[in-house]
Amino acid sequence: WLRGSSALTQVITTLPEVITGLAASERAAELLEERPAVADGPHAPALAVTDGRVAFEHVSFAYPGRASRPVLDGFDLTIRPGQTTALVGPSGAGKSTVAQLLLRFFDPVDGRVTIDGHDLRDVTQASVRAAVGVVFQDSVLLSGSLARNLRLARPTATDEEIEHALHEANAWEFVRTWDDGIHTELGERGVTLSGGQRQRLAIARVMLKDPAIVVLDEATSALDAASERLVLGALDRLLAGRTSLVIAHRVTTIRDADQIVVVERGRVGDIGTHASLLQSSATYRSYYREQAVA
Ligand code: ATP
Repeated sequence: WLRGSSALTQVITTLPEVITGLAASERAAELLEERPAVADGPHAPALAVTDGRVAFEHVSFAYPGRASRPVLDGFDLTIRPGQTTALVGPSGAGKSTVAQLLLRFFDPVDGRVTIDGHDLRDVTQASVRAAVGVVFQDSVLLSGSLARNLRLARPTATDEEIEHALHEANAWEFVRTWDDGIHTELGERGVTLSGGQRQRLAIARVMLKDPAIVVLDEATSALDAASERLVLGALDRLLAGRTSLVIAHRVTTIRDADQIVVVERGRVGDIGTHASLLQSSATYRSYYREQAVA
């Protein structure tokens, strides 16, 4: 099925983590029909990641066709290498848009987004997406074997490397019980996965990709306590030592973040650690109380 169209193959191999919601093939077809929002320069080099420092420098952005309404408006943020930044704030404030610009799905209208000082507009999109791993709660796995799904993240991965990633993602404990192990078919004709198992496999895929930077959207999905613990353990390991931008909904993620940003109407509102914001930010206090009881 990967042979049908090279453009389709490219979409699937470069965007596996973002194909969400719809059946993957439908979504891929949809992506192909969309005019690309960004284009590589004729001789654009690949992004060279050294430390994984991320900076949004006075970024303004409006979605194409909605130019009159800026979604980000002078957004300034630096994420130090290896640190976790949690974005919190009301629905529609622009949190997901910040994540999309870091993945270079769009270019800013004004200002710039950089990784290790390189403006994302000056390097290839493919190299940006190789440097940034994405975990969404409803990441879709394609039909085909587990190994094939995971190799979308790193085509040259050996079976041993795949097993190691599954271990790290707390997924090996169930994969090892399957008769065909990592060669088991997923999807309609294959095994049925629980929500928590699906998430752990999505995390394993990013583990295998081993990016310097991770974007995590924690949009809540209901898991039982045991399953949630396994997912959180896997995420802890994934985020350790990587620069991460988390659209945060869990109280523990927010509390443990190196830096919390309250996003308000496309701008950085209050910013600090959990302890400092509890002291200094009435907005954060009320937001946190709301989340804490949710
Ligand atoms: P939520 O917490 O609900 O996910 P958010 O803070 O992540 O919200 P965004 O998803 O970034 O907010 O949305 C900011 C604004 O941009 C909203 O008004 C939204 O309708 C609009 N928007 C988001 N994605 C698109 C898109 N692909 N095309 C056009 N408008 C969009």
